[in-house]
Amino acid sequence: MGSIDSEIYKLINNTQDYIQYGMISDRKVPEMMLKKEEPDSLDKIAGQIAKCGKCRLCEKRKNVVPGMGVLNPDVLVVGEGPGADEDVQGLPFVGKAGQYLDKWLDAIGLSRHTNCFIGNVVKCRPPMNRDPQPDEIEACLPYLEQQIALIKPKFILTVGRISSAVLSGQEAGIGRLRGRTYSFKGIPLIPTYHPSAVLRDPTLRKPVWDDLRRLKAELEEIKNVH
Ligand code: SF4
Repeated sequence: MGSIDSEIYKLINNTQDYIQYGMISDRKVPEMMLKKEEPDSLDKIAGQIAKCGKCRLCEKRKNVVPGMGVLNPDVLVVGEGPGADEDVQGLPFVGKAGQYLDKWLDAIGLSRHTNCFIGNVVKCRPPMNRDPQPDEIEACLPYLEQQIALIKPKFILTVGRISSAVLSGQEAGIGRLRGRTYSFKGIPLIPTYHPSAVLRDPTLRKPVWDDLRRLKAELEEIKNVH
């Protein structure tokens, strides 16, 4: 179905044709009048993702992993892509690293069930958990951008090198990126290590805790202003 603008355009022209010529020519609506319909719900975006074949990651996926959580979350958590457990269940961060992430969030009063949304930069599992390639990220990023525009998070927490670099727009490793607050389309963003990296290297626990405490403090400030 066309947009309301294009329907009105057709109606006006058909009426004018009928009055002038006694017949309707049913002129085509100019391209510029045809609005691109943006999905207006998370379900619609998830539906598009489910059918997506825009990059090679669609070939081996068992399930797409669009993300989960609440609208208007305090925090949107963004990782790089689904792993094996996520691929099987179609849900983000449900393996060991995901359970660890839930503990981090719980420690600062956050949960994917009440005040967070959790997603990834790419929605299909990269084979053997390799890094998503730049063309795969480019193909998939519009879905995350649409989700962000819809859910309107107050804050973004990126976990790991890839989502932190992609959303902060900074080309640097996570060790250099973390410790500062960036912005993604006006939304404050704090990068930290990926929970699976911290499971492998316990010395990263302290910097992650520092990042989480700072996130909590900055989030409280935002909430007090509004
Ligand atoms: S990773 Fe993203 S762009 Fe690639 S096929 Fe999956 S949903 Fe489509």
